[in-house]
Amino acid sequence: MRRAFIGLGSNIGDRCAHILLSITEMKKIPGVNFGRVSGLYNTESVGHVRQENFLNAVIEITISISPEKLLDELQKIEKRMGRTRGIKWGPRIIDLDILFVESVEMNGKNLVLPHKELAFRRFVLEPLYEIASDVVVNGAGQTVRQLLKKTPDKSNVELYMTSDAVLNKLNEV
Ligand code: AMP
Repeated sequence: MRRAFIGLGSNIGDRCAHILLSITEMKKIPGVNFGRVSGLYNTESVGHVRQENFLNAVIEITISISPEKLLDELQKIEKRMGRTRGIKWGPRIIDLDILFVESVEMNGKNLVLPHKELAFRRFVLEPLYEIASDVVVNGAGQTVRQLLKKTPDKSNVELYMTSDAVLNKLNEV
């Protein structure tokens, strides 16, 4: 079993419902066990395309399947939830990224681990910090705390819903 962290984001429609549904769907993936769940964060979109704010979160899981298989399962969930691949960096119902998998480094055509943008995205680092501040990100060789301190991304990231509230809502589904 390896520990992995997934970044979740949504900026269309009922963003909170989309995030919660994607977590419920990820729980069904064979070979995936759930760990901690961060709160939900309201975040300014980064990049050239002007668009609505995102809600972002990070979850911790352990996997007995390969990272490639995990990516495949995440992409199936994105598709089922109606995500169409339009403009790069454009609006999205749900975006699921593998941030990193402990002691795995790869630079494949379809999968790069740790995720290339991890150190440059405050909207990922803040929720990751909440649940994994002292975990060392392989590749970078630094803790999440150090990456957050050093990130050049100064965009606005605000807590929108606590982790406990997210867990309560997940239990209601
Ligand atoms: P995006 O539109 O930002 O979700 O990017 C999706 C593309 O990034 C897919 O074609 C994936 O194959 C590729 N990709 C590379 N590394 C990763 C990763 N660590 N997690 C998720 N997608 C990845």
